[in-house]
Amino acid sequence: MNDCIFCKINKGEIPSRKFYEDDKMFIIADIEPKAKLHYLMIPKKHYKLLSEMTEEDAADLAACLKKLSELAPSLGLKGGYRLVINQGDDAGQTVFHLHVHVMGGQVLDFPDLK
Ligand code: 5GP
Ligand code: ZN
Repeated sequence: MNDCIFCKINKGEIPSRKFYEDDKMFIIADIEPKAKLHYLMIPKKHYKLLSEMTEEDAADLAACLKKLSELAPSLGLKGGYRLVINQGDDAGQTVFHLHVHVMGGQVLDFPDLK
């Protein structure tokens, strides 16, 4: 995808510090952190939404989550963490390349309903 910011980061066309990378995904810090630690775990394959996943994509994402659980202590997430996957406009998704927000490094509040 030529105009996708996360594909550009994946290909190194936009420089970034990758905290972890393997054949399936990479982990970077969110540019506008909403917690003391706020990472993005980004599958390398471009697809916009969970509803677009193939069975193989689903298996890959599950493997990524397992890997993340192993990496968490080394990412500073010893006390726990929160995962968020925004889907579509109501959730405020802004980058349409599936990604998992990984937030922690502090006790996290639950947002109030508005
Ligand atoms: P979404 O709103 O789609 O769930 O999350 C997209 C996230 O990507 C936002 O939290 C935003 O701050 C982050 N983001 C957007 N552009 C960049 C970028 O160029 N680099 C990094 N590291 N994060 C980005
Ligand atoms: Zn992409």
